[in-house]
Parts: sequence; structure tokens; C-alpha cells
Amino acid sequence: MPQPNTGPAPALVLFDIDGTLVRRAGPHHREALIEAVRRIAGVQTTTDHIPVQGMLDGDILAWMLKDAGVPAPRIREWMPKLTRRAQWIYSRRCPTDLTGKVCPGVVGLLQTLRLRRLLTGIVSGNLTQIGWKKIERAGLKQFFRYGCFADRGRTRSELVKLAIAEARANAWIARRTPIALIGDHPNDIEAARRNNVRSIAVATGVVGKDELAAHKPDLLLDDLRNLPMEFITA
Ligand SMILES: [Mg+2]
Repeated sequence: MPQPNTGPAPALVLFDIDGTLVRRAGPHHREALIEAVRRIAGVQTTTDHIPVQGMLDGDILAWMLKDAGVPAPRIREWMPKLTRRAQWIYSRRCPTDLTGKVCPGVVGLLQTLRLRRLLTGIVSGNLTQIGWKKIERAGLKQFFRYGCFADRGRTRSELVKLAIAEARANAWIARRTPIALIGDHPNDIEAARRNNVRSIAVATGVVGKDELAAHKPDLLLDDLRNLPMEFITA
């Protein structure tokens, strides 16, 4: 259910999906990308050698095709078809129940944020329909007002910028409303920094706490069970 629009929210909290809200959601996402490439480009590829964590889906698809010897202009030409097909495939193959894959503390945190009328959004490297489907099957869709996904920008930092712009354009937040980005990857920390918003790194993904610490997030947590609310709202 969308949150009621009653003036600017006290804070905006943006969430990454994979490794942050849900983890180990199964091979279906990778399989959808591989199948889309097979159908559209007619080549058998793999994502095994690609560090997919923290990447945008479009970049993963481009990498797969480049390794298969497909020239860059052709990759650009095929990209709209590829992303459409990948989303279509994932929508049909996504497991019906991902509630068991939700990261620790996520539901409690989202309930608290809703209670306090904070604005919540998604910023994810997933393609739009893949991201929303995953969130829906994880039982989390009701907690989010909106989302900004891989098909909207070229970099994660660009997606964060768009998400903030959308919130401001709709007057969901005011000029000085505090904004935080929660993610499990150095790319999330970097995207937050580039947009001058608070970065909260959570070690529930594949990147360990030490490596996350090296990227100097504003706050580093084992998981989302004990996120100090003052950090978000003050
Ligand atoms: Mg992630």
C-alpha cells in the first residue's frame, strides 16, 4: 500500500535490493539474462566469470555479449530487446515465495520507517520488472513508494540522482530532507558519496565487512537489525 502523502517526509531512505533486502534469491535472475541473450543474439553465454554483484543488469548483458564476440554497435542495437526479454522471462520464472530470502532486520526496519512516515525507495541495478517482481515475491512491495532501476540510467550514481530528483519533483521531500542510501556493495557507497547522501553499508551481501570498511561508508552494520534511527532522521 502506498504511504499517504501528507507533506514532505522527515527523511528519504533508498535501498539496494540484492544482498541488502534479499539474498540468495536463486539462479532465476542470471538464468533470465542468459536465456534472453540466447533468444535474441543466438549465442550461449554465462555470467560465471562476471562480478555481477553491484553491477547494473544492462552492463552484465553487454559484458556477456562482448565476451561472445558481438560487436559494440550490435550490442547497443539489441539492448532494448534484450532487456525486455530478460524481464519477461524473469516475471514468469521468479519463485512464487521469496519471503524466506529477506535479509535479517529488513521487515522490522521497514515497518519502523513506515510508522514514522519516512519516504522509502529502491535504487537497484536490476531491470525494473525484475526488481519489482523480486520485491513483491519477498513480501516487501507494500513498503516502497517508488523505485529507480537499471533501465533508467547508466550508472548507480545516476540512478540515485534520479531517485532524489523524483522525490523532490513530487514534493515528497523538502530541500534539506536527510537522505540515506543502504547497500551491500562498494558501488552503493560510491553512489551515495557522489550524490552527497549518507551511506549505510550492510554486510549481508557477498562483500565482507573489512572490504566495506575500506570504502569508508558513513555507517557500517552487520545487518539491519540495529540501525540507529537518529542516523537517518537527524
Ligand atoms: Mg547489492
